[in-house]
Amino acid sequence: MLLRGASAGLALALLLLPQLASAESALCQTGRRQSPIDIVAPVRHKLPALEFRYRPAALKIANDGHTARVRFANASQLLIGREVFTLQQFHFHTPGGDRLAGEEFPMAAHLLHKSKSGQLLALVVLFRQGAENPALAALWPHLPAHADGDHLVANATADASGLLPVSRAYYRYPGSLTAAPCTEGVTWLVMKQPLTLSAPQLAFWRARFADNIRGPQALQGRIVEESW
Ligand SMILES: [Zn+2]
Repeated sequence: MLLRGASAGLALALLLLPQLASAESALCQTGRRQSPIDIVAPVRHKLPALEFRYRPAALKIANDGHTARVRFANASQLLIGREVFTLQQFHFHTPGGDRLAGEEFPMAAHLLHKSKSGQLLALVVLFRQGAENPALAALWPHLPAHADGDHLVANATADASGLLPVSRAYYRYPGSLTAAPCTEGVTWLVMKQPLTLSAPQLAFWRARFADNIRGPQALQGRIVEESW
């Protein structure tokens, strides 16, 4: 009876192996430095200034079924102290993911950067509903209506500097990719000043993409720094 129980248990374990094999995805549940978060009690700190050297580039965009992604080659950089981060791509989420003192935002842009040594850095720009956003107004007509691959859009440019708020103040915390494999060790910078987008702009996006971000993750003792 005991043996039969054990072999049944073994069979069950074998059935579950495919899931168990993706140990990295377990981080999504068990990780302790996960994104996004609710920024509730940041600690003021003298953080290095952000120096954006973003350059316009030919618009290369893809709809991956979850979001629209705009890719960049090598010309757009973010300098932080002596570190140089190159912009790889930006994409959008609804709702915004990271919250400020409990406030949930209807949308966020994630601008993903990588340093030469391979350090990943996600810069988050949050959007409130309000006035129309000029950068989104330029981009939205090029949103692919259906899932497709990366493709260049003729006679169109992408300029990530249009997605930056005037204020360069930011929050910083150690985070992760927000979807499987939820890899940690990603530096998260959340710009303090949200931008706005209009109700029609939000509706235009929502007509194409379902909500695509998980809720705030536990801080697990992490400290969020706030620049000043
Ligand atoms: Zn993202």
